[in-house]
Amino acid sequence: MNSGKLQTPIDYLKGVGPNRATLLRSELGIHTYQDFLNLFPNRYIDKTQYYKIAQLQPTSADVQIIGKITHIKTVGEGRAKRLVATFIDQTGSMDLVWFRGLKWIRESLKINIPYVVFGKVQRFGSAYSIAHPDLELLEEHEKSLRIAMQPVYPSTEKLSNRGITNRVVNVLMQTLFQEVHNAIDESLSNSILDTLKLIPKKEAYLNIHFPQSQESLAKAQFRLKFEELFYIQLQLLVKNKLHKQKIKGYPFEQIGNYFTKFYNEHLPFELTEAQKRVVKEIRNDLGKPAQMNRLLQGDVGSGKTIVALLTMLIAIDNDFQACLMAPTEILAIQHYQGLSELCKDLDINIALLTGSSRTKARRIIHENLENGSLNILIGTHALLEDKVKFKNLGLAIIDEQHRFGVAQRSKLWHKNSLPPHILIMTATPIPRTLAMSVYGDLDVSVIDELPPGRKAIKTVHRYDNNRLKVFGFIRDEIKKGRQIYVVYPLIQESEALDYKDLMDGYESISREFPMPEYQISIVHGQMKPADKDYEMNRFVNGETQIMVATTVIEVGVNVPNASVMIIESAERFGLSQLHQLRGRVGRGADQSFCILMTGHKLSEDSKTRLQTMTNTNDGFEIAEVDLKLRGPGDIMGTQQSGVLNLKIADIIKDNEIMKISRNYASALLNEDPQLLKEENLPIRQMYAQLMKYKNIWNYIS
Ligand code: ADP
Ligand code: MG
Repeated sequence: MNSGKLQTPIDYLKGVGPNRATLLRSELGIHTYQDFLNLFPNRYIDKTQYYKIAQLQPTSADVQIIGKITHIKTVGEGRAKRLVATFIDQTGSMDLVWFRGLKWIRESLKINIPYVVFGKVQRFGSAYSIAHPDLELLEEHEKSLRIAMQPVYPSTEKLSNRGITNRVVNVLMQTLFQEVHNAIDESLSNSILDTLKLIPKKEAYLNIHFPQSQESLAKAQFRLKFEELFYIQLQLLVKNKLHKQKIKGYPFEQIGNYFTKFYNEHLPFELTEAQKRVVKEIRNDLGKPAQMNRLLQGDVGSGKTIVALLTMLIAIDNDFQACLMAPTEILAIQHYQGLSELCKDLDINIALLTGSSRTKARRIIHENLENGSLNILIGTHALLEDKVKFKNLGLAIIDEQHRFGVAQRSKLWHKNSLPPHILIMTATPIPRTLAMSVYGDLDVSVIDELPPGRKAIKTVHRYDNNRLKVFGFIRDEIKKGRQIYVVYPLIQESEALDYKDLMDGYESISREFPMPEYQISIVHGQMKPADKDYEMNRFVNGETQIMVATTVIEVGVNVPNASVMIIESAERFGLSQLHQLRGRVGRGADQSFCILMTGHKLSEDSKTRLQTMTNTNDGFEIAEVDLKLRGPGDIMGTQQSGVLNLKIADIIKDNEIMKISRNYASALLNEDPQLLKEENLPIRQMYAQLMKYKNIWNYIS
């Protein structure tokens, strides 16, 4: 046991010294031996092959050649000044070229001594050359640790300009290994190593830095990625458990009359398997004396509302009240109407509270809330006002979570001695991998199945010059009695321009679809809320056929009769937004359409987004593409998450390993919650070390 050695400052490594140590610290964040050991190669170059100069092709990539330098000269003036060495083997001659460090390099080059050069070949006229090649004397090359796959390490311009080339890093890594190889302790248990057939840690480090073959490299990568993800999952799971121990909640022990009666007699349809599974997960959680903190993800239209209702019925069965908070008044009203209809045969008292509730209605609501006769309160953030006091709030459901801040949410908690259970519903799919790593401390339920009989929305991409045809299509759909959305982008930076686009669009649509035959609603951010609601309601009630709007309609409205979504300047929307918008249609029995309008000039990313939209309706698939395009940093406030500073694993590409690691971490904690078993000692030690060096508690919640 000698892991203290790995904490040695990097300055002490032979060949480093104070100058290089300073550079390694500032450029790569390497402070200790251990940091250096964890500098994993970005890629590898196959160095099992040697080329002859006569074999070179203009397309040859990185090549390795044995030969001699016969001649060195400096050519050019000023900035074009460069050092050119003539390099030959038995088959021909080529140039090696340097643009920087001329003096130092010229002095160090040896004439007529065999070298191995390595680098990217270029061809100028008929001559081949390599700029800034890696050079090694053949004699040393043969002596050095034989490396079949040459690692290429992360670097910076400053490092290579100051002579810390990839070769230098390689040599330093060899030195390091000779010194610390024995100090690399195993950090997984034998049982995990055995079941997953993982190679020992020591061997993994050796093979990641000095792989002898593709196969040994693959094993090393798997082992190290697994370990990295395993410890992240372990930390998150422990945190999740601590949370459960600390925060008590009301156990909903019984499933009573309301739930059972509704389930058996009033369900308007058979639940999908996914809905059943999710209800079971929630029931299970609610039965425990810990506060539920669950994220319910389900694509638009996947049927989250009925799950919310069933959950609320469980609360009522246990003599608690429930509330449902929606981000907009329209949504709250829709929920109120929908849920009242569903519950009409149950003896349940439901009320709606929004900013526009009248004083008298409000007073009655307050009263009934406090005396307990009101079972379910539905509303907007008006629910959070101090005057709103529940007798015994047992469950708070939040729809479309991203519109509420954490601070707002926690206001609900302070109305009771114990916090209510929380269910957050969102239609913005978070890729499973990301959910697992970033929200590992929340429990996540997923409805990954749409109710049967839904017709997939047909999505097409049309260029602006086809607008007349699109208008024709709209006319036909309206003739069939359908309603149409036309949506314009609204982006803060160009608000004025966007507003003009919207108004121009509205005018041209009004010309094309004149009154009184056609009625058009318009909704945008500069309108007063009351006017917005008025226009929105006209559309909801079918008084208008066309809704021209900015993205304010993004969230939740349900107009089953609307079957066409036209998105203008679609290239300017992000994927998840496009998907959300499309989700406004396809809610009725009729075939629905989504038309993405763009100009001809499209970036590669825009093309990918449009193609993804026309190819699939699956929100999770779309979220995965989105994640790849934007990187995880942009998605849902994950920037602060330390989870994403992965050293070797890739949160997107390695999601299979992530799942495996989560299962193993979870099994381990079930079996040995305190990590007290002898055989888990290596894990306990590693865990303690991680806790010491990085404070994982900081970045979540
Ligand atoms: P969202 O998840 O977007 O909130 P909703 O709960 O509004 O979806 O459900 C969308 C529509 O699907 C509603 O009209 C609802 O009645 C219907 N629905 C939900 N679950 C089912 C099901 N299992 N079978 C048939 N229709 C369903
Ligand atoms: Mg909904």
